[in-house]
Amino acid sequence: MAEIIDGKAIARAIKAEVAARLQERGGAAPLIVAVEVGQDDASASYVRNQARQADRVGILHRLDRLPDDIDDAGLQAHLRRLGEDPEVTAIMLQTPLPRHLDLRAARAAIDPEKDVEAVTTTNAGRLVSGVHRVAPCTALAAVACLEAATGGDLRGLHVTVIGRSEIVGRPLALLLLHGDATVTVTHRHTRHLAQHTREADVVISAVGQPGLVTADMVREGAIVVDVGTNWIAEQNRLVGDVDYEAVAAKASRITPVPGGVGPVTVAMLLRNAVHLLDG
Ligand code: NAD
Repeated sequence: MAEIIDGKAIARAIKAEVAARLQERGGAAPLIVAVEVGQDDASASYVRNQARQADRVGILHRLDRLPDDIDDAGLQAHLRRLGEDPEVTAIMLQTPLPRHLDLRAARAAIDPEKDVEAVTTTNAGRLVSGVHRVAPCTALAAVACLEAATGGDLRGLHVTVIGRSEIVGRPLALLLLHGDATVTVTHRHTRHLAQHTREADVVISAVGQPGLVTADMVREGAIVVDVGTNWIAEQNRLVGDVDYEAVAAKASRITPVPGGVGPVTVAMLLRNAVHLLDG
């Protein structure tokens, strides 16, 4: 039976580090501004949770809620104003945006030096070059969970990543390469997915499909990191992409859902907010 990778414990350690770093720095507290267009219940509870956790480590947090009929120019102007405001040190744009808005153009209006989720092309480019200070939080969280399982060393490990999205799979592959892992990236058009996962020392799934990763897809003793979050309304519970019980019986280490990558993601957001100050 696999040992559980405890995301809550990893998150606690990162937040303690963030709080200590801020104490040591002194000066004004960082301010994260979350920009939300319209009102979305899931996003509202996510933002409330962020605000609570930020407060605990000494980071200020504000929610700017913009009307859902705002146009592209209005949203971009708001983001630019935040970039110019010296009190604001970190900006995040809640997604999904209403359909009439251009997400890419909005992200381009975020000051890269305040881009706490690393969604601008400037920060994506820095990540490609390995000169990044921040990276997308969920990708960082998946790597932190893997490092907790291996003792930190990723060199030479064969990691198969399932999913290639701009915010999770792709930056994750880059972070793993920077850690000297051998990376296979798979996605919805990959043929024979199981062949790629069975060969791997580590399988990281970031898809959003319950039951995608079954026991026969994972080799004995592999490490499994489940980034997926899927709400099963009939059962009133959250599950990942991995068929947990069966895969845990075969893997050596595994992240649970909930309690795995999720809590570490919020901790990484706070850590990014501190790293932005060191620019
Ligand atoms: P996305 O929809 O943007 O990307 C999904 C990726 O999965 C795509 O690259 C697609 O090609 C691939 N894919 C789809 N079906 C596939 C299949 N059958 N086989 C192989 N690949 C397939 O999603 P995202 O934003 O990257 O999020 C992925 C998952 O991670 C979601 O469940 C999301 O809720 C979760 N997530 C969790 C956290 C967290 O903090 N734990 C944060 C962000 C996202």
